[in-house]
Amino acid sequence: MNGPLIKMVGSSKRLGGRSVLNHLDLAVEAGEVVGIIGANGSGKTTLLRLLAGLLYADSGEIQVNQRRVAPGVIGYMPAEIGVLIESPSFRTQFSGLQNLLFLAGIRRVIGRSDITRQMAHFGLDPNNRQAVRKYSLGMRQRLGLTQATMESPRVLLLDEPTNSLDQAGVQVLAKTLETIAARGVAIVLVSHIMDDINAWCDRVFRLEGGTLTVVRSQRPRQWRVVLRRWDDIPRVNDLFLSWQVVGQAAEGPAFLGTGPWTEAAELMEALKGRAVEAVAIERA
Ligand code: ADP
Repeated sequence: MNGPLIKMVGSSKRLGGRSVLNHLDLAVEAGEVVGIIGANGSGKTTLLRLLAGLLYADSGEIQVNQRRVAPGVIGYMPAEIGVLIESPSFRTQFSGLQNLLFLAGIRRVIGRSDITRQMAHFGLDPNNRQAVRKYSLGMRQRLGLTQATMESPRVLLLDEPTNSLDQAGVQVLAKTLETIAARGVAIVLVSHIMDDINAWCDRVFRLEGGTLTVVRSQRPRQWRVVLRRWDDIPRVNDLFLSWQVVGQAAEGPAFLGTGPWTEAAELMEALKGRAVEAVAIERA
């Protein structure tokens, strides 16, 4: 199927007497990971709610999976989407597995073994009979991520996905997003923390004043760089989105860094601009 799996055209929404989204446009293709950052109250959750069909826009058009999202009996509430919006709500007197079995019973597209596999993937023990009420916040988040992904949706919407996750959980999430994007899922991540989503997204937008502005329109690439001098390391600090020293090459210190450059020559120029001499630069 061609064309974006998520499309918002001129979408506006007023809540509590004020304009939250204002003629907002967004298109996300299959296999794309799009990040949306913005301050608290900027409307990020509202945007996801519109895409999930949990709220309806006042004007404009929204399509998910190439069908128009519309209210009412003859309307369309997006199917084949995975959603984790705000803190996941579960029936807290039941176990994690019981909750997921109940939710899977709505669409009946997966069975018990699919659920237990996905729970284990996110580091949850399917045999844990503990009520969700006793779960830590991190375990609830893992359960929410399991719920959002277990039916292999074509569109995945995640609100603050790293909330309460420990480092191991963040790593599993990163790997999962990479795998499912490669399968052609359109993913929208929303966060108030730039670092959280920066490394995972092909494109990043800022939601401000009800509309989106581009922060970054392509995925940062990873580079392996060898410098002439260790002393230059502090000068490359803020040139890269992230970087880490990986060792000592014959000529000097070697590190991996991510940044927007598409050619080695561009990165070489950027380093020269800081009077830093690179011995080798290659795509990692
Ligand atoms: P974010 O997710 O970026 O923190 P939200 O989308 O939750 O922002 O909220 C955007 C704005 O809409 C906020 O000012 C919030 O107070 C307001 N808002 C959200 N839901 C409602 C509602 N049901 N009624 C009135 N105002 C709301």
